[in-house]
Amino acid sequence: MKDVLLRAEGVKRYFPVKTGAFFKKSFIKAVDGVSFDIYRGKTFGLVGESGCGKSTLGRALLALYPLTGGKIFFDGQDIAAFNPGELKNFRKRIQFIFQDPSASLNPRATIGNILLEPFRIHKAGGRAERKERILFLLNKVGLSEYHLSRYPHELSGGQKQRVGVARALALNPELIVCDEAVSALDVSIQAQVVNLLEDLQREFSLTYVFISHNLNLVHHVSSRVCVMYLGKIVELGAHDTIYAHTLHPYTKALMSAIPGTPASSGRVILKGDVPSPLNPPAGCRFHTRCPLAREICREHEPALTHAEAGHYVACHLYG
Ligand code: SF4
Repeated sequence: MKDVLLRAEGVKRYFPVKTGAFFKKSFIKAVDGVSFDIYRGKTFGLVGESGCGKSTLGRALLALYPLTGGKIFFDGQDIAAFNPGELKNFRKRIQFIFQDPSASLNPRATIGNILLEPFRIHKAGGRAERKERILFLLNKVGLSEYHLSRYPHELSGGQKQRVGVARALALNPELIVCDEAVSALDVSIQAQVVNLLEDLQREFSLTYVFISHNLNLVHHVSSRVCVMYLGKIVELGAHDTIYAHTLHPYTKALMSAIPGTPASSGRVILKGDVPSPLNPPAGCRFHTRCPLAREICREHEPALTHAEAGHYVACHLYG
């Protein structure tokens, strides 16, 4: 049996907004009832177009948002039931790497002080222990003692993201949420940071949630891939299964844009934009863009069902 580190059960996160001339209260349904398991020591890839809810879900996993519905269990414990002490401990065990390394580092702090911050917040270690750990981390991410007194603007984009990785590792986390962690970097630097993350995963048995709009990248780094559309999971499975036996028309469209994939022989160009999560389409949320939509798709929402071993899809074609 697989070792589940994090379990999401029917997770919902809505944001209240006031709309129309009468400021009627409505809800943006950013994440709308998603369930999945994340296995210890593996990478769980979350992919979808912008606005699909993947970043909101990533933040919900860190307990940065209260949930509108559902539950998240970390190591078997409901994170909503944590008292302040347990929540602080949980925040040591789960960390975040941000998309924009320039914006995520304090421009007025030296790299040394940026890396000290997690130890100060969690009152972890003594002076000598902290210094030793910071030098160890810098070495692990390919930087050196020289960088301790540098400021973020003196570093390249790749070096800044290495600092972000070192900061995430500071307190020995078990799970790291990487939200578009390499999207802002040049392609050659992306490969370096991805390789670094993979090396660190092997060395420290880390679990990653890798969030990206880039299915090719997610496929490369993940052991399981979860495809989201308008706040819902449309397909979930092992990365090689999703690659070789893509089922959902939305995933097929994303896959068809990747040269060399089985789906790329029949390129599918999706028409129109992702509808607003404020007023998602009835039935299957993808029906307004799906080339295979049928009558039932406009009326009934397909459930995420088990299609084959470890492979789930939400589509009436497989109901
Ligand atoms: Fe397309 Fe219908 Fe399947 Fe939705 S349920 S993806 S509209 S075929």
